[in-house]
Amino acid sequence: MNFSDLGLSKDLLSSIERAKYESPYPIQIEAIPAILQQKDILGLAPTGSGKTAAYILPILQRLLPKEAPRERFIPVLVIVPTRELAVQVAEVTENFSRFLPRKIKSMAVFGGVSINPQMMKLHGVEILIATPGRLIDLLGRNALGISRIHTLVLDEADKVLNMGFREEVEHILELLPSRRQNILFSATTDNEVDVLIQKLLKDPVRIQVEGDNFTPDLIDQKAYRVSPENKGPFLRQLINSGDWSQILVFASSIRTADNVATKLSKNGIEAVAFHGDKSQGARTEALARFKSGKTRVLVATDLAARGIDIQFLPLVINYELPRSPKDYIHRIGRTGRAGATGEAISLITPEELHHFKVIQKKMGKRVLLLESENFGKNEEDS
Ligand code: AMP
Repeated sequence: MNFSDLGLSKDLLSSIERAKYESPYPIQIEAIPAILQQKDILGLAPTGSGKTAAYILPILQRLLPKEAPRERFIPVLVIVPTRELAVQVAEVTENFSRFLPRKIKSMAVFGGVSINPQMMKLHGVEILIATPGRLIDLLGRNALGISRIHTLVLDEADKVLNMGFREEVEHILELLPSRRQNILFSATTDNEVDVLIQKLLKDPVRIQVEGDNFTPDLIDQKAYRVSPENKGPFLRQLINSGDWSQILVFASSIRTADNVATKLSKNGIEAVAFHGDKSQGARTEALARFKSGKTRVLVATDLAARGIDIQFLPLVINYELPRSPKDYIHRIGRTGRAGATGEAISLITPEELHHFKVIQKKMGKRVLLLESENFGKNEEDS
């Protein structure tokens, strides 16, 4: 299957070529033609599946023959849970629209930064990517109109709701015109997500990409048995043993993430914590430093890590296991993306052993469990 089989125009196909996407991912094969036909979409797909391009490409194609809006009425609205995802989606949009025959203006708006500069740039925006809170603030100041939206995307709907934005989303929906195309993506579903799906989507095309499918076999998974008191020293030993340029370490709580990052830094390994307790500014800076290679280790919690997109991340370490197998798959899916090879290493205490077995069972794959005491010796013997 090629991108040229999906109904995309020549202009978009050359944007795809420039992005060096060789062939479409499964979600793109299903979503692009359906979105071009202006159907409502329910996409059950995690980050890493290629969902952003799956909706942005057909949206750009729809906008291309139209004239840019002269007033502040936005035709396409993308609602996202976090600033990180907003920036990421805006980057993808900009990337694909840069060489199109006409400029399609897109913009990300999010809280935690001052609102005035954002208000000033809204004129002529055709694709607005917004976190719910900031969008409501902007609407309250009459900075834009959303009553002429023809396409609404709700990306990572589960996370939008998890972060407590249900009322904001409902408020936004009330302001939209009733005739419009709706696209909803969610990695998981629960009752709350189901209610939203019922409310938002009319006769949707349902597309599901399983987390397991996108767990690439390219990821080399390993685990080390380690005592709780030895986790810190072993983590440092592990990090020092290789020349990985970037390492993403997962912790289960904000406190542990902070402690681990501090300990690493004290021991000469540049590390920074990334979690929901940090200010937007601190999170953006941490991520920028990590992406540019200035900080080698990012210690993140699951919630904060969901919006991170870093290509070719070589190593993920589970300092602690996540509660759900889905989160484990999501975490290790941070490496080995877009065809690159990666490693995922979990540190397992005796108490975590049973849970780790459950995760492996759910994943349908056994992970080699090694003794941390034998680390650096011939591992095959252990
Ligand atoms: P997403 O799920 O939208 O966050 O995309 C995950 C990653 O896959 C991003 O780094 C994209 O640039 C990349 N990607 C998406 N679609 C393709 C494709 N068809 N070929 C190669 N890389 C892709």
